[in-house]
Amino acid sequence: MSKSSFSIAGVTAAPGAREARVLELIIAGTPTQLPLFVLNGAQDGPTVLVTAAIHGGEYVGTAAAMQLALTTDLAALRGQLVIAPIASMTAYAKRAIYIAPPDKKNLNRCFPGKADGSFADQLAHWIFTNLISKADFYVDCHGGDINEALIPFSVISITGNAAVDAKSMKLAEAFGIRYIMTSSVKGSTVSAAAAIGVPAVLTEVGGQGQWSPAEVQQMYDGLISSLAFAGSLARGFKAMPTHVLEHSASMRSDHDGLWYPQVKVGDTVKTGQNLGHVTDFLGNTVQTAIASMDGTVMYVVTTLAMNAGDPLLFIGA
Ligand SMILES: [Zn+2]
Repeated sequence: MSKSSFSIAGVTAAPGAREARVLELIIAGTPTQLPLFVLNGAQDGPTVLVTAAIHGGEYVGTAAAMQLALTTDLAALRGQLVIAPIASMTAYAKRAIYIAPPDKKNLNRCFPGKADGSFADQLAHWIFTNLISKADFYVDCHGGDINEALIPFSVISITGNAAVDAKSMKLAEAFGIRYIMTSSVKGSTVSAAAAIGVPAVLTEVGGQGQWSPAEVQQMYDGLISSLAFAGSLARGFKAMPTHVLEHSASMRSDHDGLWYPQVKVGDTVKTGQNLGHVTDFLGNTVQTAIASMDGTVMYVVTTLAMNAGDPLLFIGA
């Protein structure tokens, strides 16, 4: 048996027990909720954190995290599994894309957060100090947002700490999504985790507000495989053949208006190719999206509605 009970974020689970709570939080003066599952395995092992809905409308991750929370066999679990399936409840409740509604910031650019910042800064700070900093491994489940079609890929943060970076890569390989992107973007969950030595992977599956059984199964299978890699489950895992995306280009709209993409997610595109155009509200073309590199369309916004500053699409190679 695991030697002792385990406490995190004020929730305590006895050895071999599962505790589930909806935490009532006051973040920058705004009441919000955070459902938390704490599974304390019957045997010793690592602490693995799984979060989903850092962006509230990425449902494949939430559905897979719920499945993991409700079905994991505590007798077979080594160490602790901590699962927050809806990390940004205000965004989930409003079906908001990209941002946390109280301050309209992208939560996944606010990590490790600030104790005295606005809502998303303080929520990031709460998640970072209470959950991420207590983990030995971290998987953050994302997907295309409600307005985006996407082919699955994983993202790891490159810190320059070779040991941590190698473990994050192995975690991503164990998760098993074919495409892996290395990122130096600051403010994300995985960059903040890796910066303090917690190997972490951000996984993108699904999009457009859908959560098909096949996509939920892909995310769930990846989580199980990651847990096996971390040593949480006494079973083998097979590192799947993966392909690291060495180059990428993200294109954004310069205008409010209407977006007419001419490519679909997964399409192969060539440098110079016309990928679509944005018109103003009177139908005049105000921007043409031209591919700046050869590659694969990893995600594309599929709503006609477009705002200045929003992503149009993303190419990886
Ligand atoms: Zn996301």
